[in-house]
Amino acid sequence: MSNSPAAKSGAKPAAAPEAPNPGKPSNFLRQIIEHDLAAGIYATRHWAGSPGDAAHQTTGALDPARIRTRFPPEPNGYLHVGHAKSICLNFGLARDYGGVCHLRFDDTNPEKEDTEYVNSIIDAVRWLGFDWSQPGNDKPYQASDYFGFMYRAAEALIEAGHAYVDEQTPEQMRANRGDFGKPGIDSPFRSRTPAQNLARFREMRAGSHEDGSMVLRAKIDMASPNINLRDPAVYRIRRATHHNTGDTWCIYPMYTFAHPIEDALEQITHSICTLEFEDQRPFYDWLMERLIEAGLLASPPPKQYEFARLNLTYVVTSKRKLAQLVYDHKVSGWDDPRMPTIVGLRRRGYTPASLQLFAERIGVTKSDSWIDYSTLEGCLREDLDGSAQRAMAVLDPVKLVLTNWDSVMGAGTLDACSAPMHPHHPELGNREFVMGREVWIERSDFEETPPIGFFRLFPGNKVRLKYGHIIECTGALKDANGQITEVHATLISDTKSGTPGSSSVKVKGVITWVGAHDGVSAEVRMYDRLFSDEQPDAGGKDFLEGLNPHSLKILTAIVEPTLANALPDQKFQFERLGYFVADRVDHVQGSKPVFNLAVGLKDSFGK
Ligand code: ATP
Ligand code: MG
Repeated sequence: MSNSPAAKSGAKPAAAPEAPNPGKPSNFLRQIIEHDLAAGIYATRHWAGSPGDAAHQTTGALDPARIRTRFPPEPNGYLHVGHAKSICLNFGLARDYGGVCHLRFDDTNPEKEDTEYVNSIIDAVRWLGFDWSQPGNDKPYQASDYFGFMYRAAEALIEAGHAYVDEQTPEQMRANRGDFGKPGIDSPFRSRTPAQNLARFREMRAGSHEDGSMVLRAKIDMASPNINLRDPAVYRIRRATHHNTGDTWCIYPMYTFAHPIEDALEQITHSICTLEFEDQRPFYDWLMERLIEAGLLASPPPKQYEFARLNLTYVVTSKRKLAQLVYDHKVSGWDDPRMPTIVGLRRRGYTPASLQLFAERIGVTKSDSWIDYSTLEGCLREDLDGSAQRAMAVLDPVKLVLTNWDSVMGAGTLDACSAPMHPHHPELGNREFVMGREVWIERSDFEETPPIGFFRLFPGNKVRLKYGHIIECTGALKDANGQITEVHATLISDTKSGTPGSSSVKVKGVITWVGAHDGVSAEVRMYDRLFSDEQPDAGGKDFLEGLNPHSLKILTAIVEPTLANALPDQKFQFERLGYFVADRVDHVQGSKPVFNLAVGLKDSFGK
């Protein structure tokens, strides 16, 4: 069923199949992992049950996890569909190869992080159907717990002559870094002795120097063709209160230094990131080698692999830009059903299964490309078609009066009708509703003068009211403005659906309807794409200019009585109309039905 999370990710590193997971399309990451497993590259690693340095890990047994991957978000916003791709990828690989995937908060930057985001990330990963808990430990890891080790690692680099404290101004540093065509120039502080550097670094840590007055830099090669190897900064002074460590530290590690260390302490084998980190890989490897040499980290070290981030048309996937939509009130919040955030997609009616299917279908590649939004919608449709209960609703109601009802059916008679919950799942049973003299139909199902190919209601034409009788249209009433106020028809007796006479009259049209006697009024939110620009932020455009001014229309619809009792988050196919979900926030079962359009029955965007 769509509401149940998909299979757990196999947090327990048990019983891995020797053979690669059958039936999954291969990709370059799977090939690397299969190669590494076959070669036994990580078979000698130990795991002491928790992250730690070489000395700690050797106290443990051989790691029962055949591989370790990680999903390392920075808790500075809500996760979006791009993160969903990364979650499905990392947790999926661990599951498929008998490994473990760690959830790790990359919270080394003290200023931007918040526990609200931490909680939302935990919820999102769980909801997607994954689990990071391991025997004796079900808390996610957090990078800030490793600050102590990172500081030790920095001192070890200094002692071995691999790092120095640079007191150039930021401008001087930038100017002396050179560029692609020009080698950098050594800092005048580069030739300090390890003892001098160590003393200086300890002063930095003790708070003896101002923010920004000096940094610790790795000492590598100021002439390297890879600018990231021109003595990158690894520690800076920043007096800021950290959400986990408070005011313990006034120096913080740079991301490029912290991230490989986090991976290594957690015994990660395959550290998978997006392509923009490709240029950082040589530094990643350099740092791992130095810290293994120093005896601080266990060998073999983790390796970094890059894949193309998800770019999805008609949305933006940058936490900063999504935050701007929220703070500028362009949407109702992070969970606005038009948002590509995981909470937004969930409220829109997306299911864990549909997002997992999406991640699998788009695959992983080494080159950037755009995925069309309709691919995502197609995955939802595929999931909901098999699982969503059917119902009838009328979004733009006009009354249909069956003028001969009293003489054919008997005055005041209500005719019981029933329809399957799902056409392919008879075991789910039926829904019941009634037809009387008056029913609601879609305004667009009547035409006074029908265009060619129109088979629904027009004077003289016969159609079936789905699950009910065949009727013949006789005309309509209009108001002073020419607006149709009532459509009239006569009921043809003995043609009810499911009775022997039902096929005695042939019709080309079948229309959906809701009884005036038992129909329930409901708010229906018709969502369209948030942006009308296919690539709202490409090429430095102001993405707010690409917003679709018609991305939300609120309708008062009439729905069949079963829908009044829908549970929040329950998904439906409104027959002929699309897939809808009872809004998780505003729908009140039994008293205030509110439905969101999740996705249409077919891809009709822009048509
Ligand atoms: P943003 O730019 O939206 O802030 P980010 O990359 O800074 O995103 P992180 O919290 O650092 O966000 O990301 C956590 C993980 O999710 C990283 O491993 C990152 O590579 C991955 N990720 C982020 N965006 C995408 C995307 N669009 N496609 C695939 N993976 C992504
Ligand atoms: Mg980031």
